Amino acid sequence: MHRTKVRIVEDALDANNTIARANREDFDRHGVTVVNLMSAPGAGKTTLLERTVSDLDGLRVGVLEGDVQGSFDADRLASLHIPVTQLNTDPGFGGECHLDANMVRSALSSLPLPQLDLLVIENVGNLVCPAEFKVGEDARVMISSVTEGEDKPLKYPLMFRACELVVINKIDLLAHLDYDLDKFLYHLDQVNPGVERMLVSARTGEGIDAWREWIAAAGERERALA
Ligand code: MG
Ligand code: ZN
Repeated sequence: MHRTKVRIVEDALDANNTIARANREDFDRHGVTVVNLMSAPGAGKTTLLERTVSDLDGLRVGVLEGDVQGSFDADRLASLHIPVTQLNTDPGFGGECHLDANMVRSALSSLPLPQLDLLVIENVGNLVCPAEFKVGEDARVMISSVTEGEDKPLKYPLMFRACELVVINKIDLLAHLDYDLDKFLYHLDQVNPGVERMLVSARTGEGIDAWREWIAAAGERERALA
């Protein structure tokens, strides 16, 4: 019984990976770097993007905005005059709480890939399943806000392991919280030793230059290869 269940999950992830590879080939053909941005709801993904995506040294940036319903975040980003495509998991994908490769594939035709150097995919806010589904990205970034508590790497280890960069957001609130940053970093190193991390406040702009440089470098890397 258990073995059958494991088998079904493995087959589903294999199928996802096959579609993710096809997405990746399409992105590569157009010389587009893809960053998959993941976090819990409310960690500040959209605010972080608002702060940076229209200001990246001539890099042409687009956003694929994943949400269960609605277009609140896409509307915010569209006001920055960059191409934003909304991808809702409800209706169409059963209201799923993550993006998978097939959903992203379904949105490819509405993305202006030939006009982009960098595509940021803002995943559905969720600390569990987005980590399990590759979508064809070059890099995965996880945002953890200090309001979420320092235990999160231990509670959601896969998410903190499945990324190349951890952005610790809302550091302007540290003075008002009982959050122990050293403890968080200790927990982070327990699940993903030495993973690159940066401290930012998307609200005040503190530390945001490091994030801007990171994401610009990600975009440049692919452009140099194209
Ligand atoms: Mg958002
Ligand atoms: Zn999910």
